[in-house]
Amino acid sequence: MTRPYHSPSSLSTGALCDAMWAFGYLDHLRDPEVDYADIEAGRIKPTFVPQGPGQCSYKQRGGALGAALHHVWEAYFTGGQPAWNTYAGQVAMAGIELLPHPDLCEWVSVEAPVGAEIIGYRKRGEGGEIKAEPAEGLDPVYVLRVEGVAFNGFRDLTVKIKPDELERLGLSHAPGGIVLYDYKSTSNIALYALSADDLRKDVQCNLYALDVMIKYGLESVACRWVYFETKDVRQAVAIDVVITREHARSIIHAQIELAHHLDTIQSSATAALNWRSCFKYGGKRGEIGCSYHSSKGGPCRMKHTSGQLMMAPFGRKEEGKMPLSDAHKARFVAKKQEASPPADDAQPESVENGDVAPSAPAETSAPAVTETPRPRTRTMKAPAQTGLAASLAEFAQAVAEQDAIIAGAEAEKAKIKAAVAKAVA
Ligand code: SF4
Repeated sequence: MTRPYHSPSSLSTGALCDAMWAFGYLDHLRDPEVDYADIEAGRIKPTFVPQGPGQCSYKQRGGALGAALHHVWEAYFTGGQPAWNTYAGQVAMAGIELLPHPDLCEWVSVEAPVGAEIIGYRKRGEGGEIKAEPAEGLDPVYVLRVEGVAFNGFRDLTVKIKPDELERLGLSHAPGGIVLYDYKSTSNIALYALSADDLRKDVQCNLYALDVMIKYGLESVACRWVYFETKDVRQAVAIDVVITREHARSIIHAQIELAHHLDTIQSSATAALNWRSCFKYGGKRGEIGCSYHSSKGGPCRMKHTSGQLMMAPFGRKEEGKMPLSDAHKARFVAKKQEASPPADDAQPESVENGDVAPSAPAETSAPAVTETPRPRTRTMKAPAQTGLAASLAEFAQAVAEQDAIIAGAEAEKAKIKAAVAKAVA
């Protein structure tokens, strides 16, 4: 069934697991939104598996804090009263120097819909049926159509900034002085913030950038994603890239096939399961992070084999190193020496890892983007990932060796079975 539109979050979910997508986008089994003020006041308590009213999941808490953070910035840029004295306000304050002062902008566009084509009418912020005719209380639903597929979304902030303020922000290269901003709240910037390379491949960034370029007649646009840390420390980091039209179109083109595939999914009952994605954001290795899994109170009965649990990808970016016991390590070393000549210590060239978003399209042959200078204030560098790559290679090697051990055991079992069968005969 062709959907009226796809959003960046629909595509990133669909790239992980068909069933996860179907639970969310066909069955609409989404966690209800909670108000962060209720959590802050203790009226709602976050827990691992919420048992009813008065409780919410940690994922819901994160979503509520993100929404509250967006409200603070919305008030700041629309002349309202930002709630700086709340927890979300304090989180937001850490990044204030990464954003332009509203008085130093020529114009400001807040929460603007992507696209200019109206496909119907619906109350903003609510899902459900899209009505064909306008009516009181309903808002137009806009889409941006690329290669026949409709995309929907909202840009947090787009601004045309005056030259001195651009200079202060380290954004003086921004074409036309226009900058596309997005606010991201995260419990840990070092673990979860996208690097500039990740951002260049990010569907949301490229979709929103393409929309800005079309609307404001640009061939390229400066994008700044501001990450706000929400846990132990108050800090923020800006990740900057410049995206061209050609690059944005190439990234969105890579999503077209996925969008068509998602349109063919009929129901959650028949949708394919992807065991690897169950562990996405699970935290520790082998910990299920998907809120649709039965262990989290969800409907998915996915059962993992012990082999899958052993090979479970890590939920977090920097926990790529498999915590093998010394005994296991010794076994693998011995097995390797037995199986391979000592000179052959070639490492796998790459490894699939559940934490690398499968939605990330392959790098285009000539990405027409440039990394911009870092802003001067209150920024942290995105985490280096060289250690992760090394750890993943080690993990891949360990998994391959584990597979060899399992295959050897299976062969032994088959031999014994055959011998028993012969003896019985
Ligand atoms: S638990 Fe796993 S298989 Fe089930 S929906 Fe989630 S990711 Fe997919």
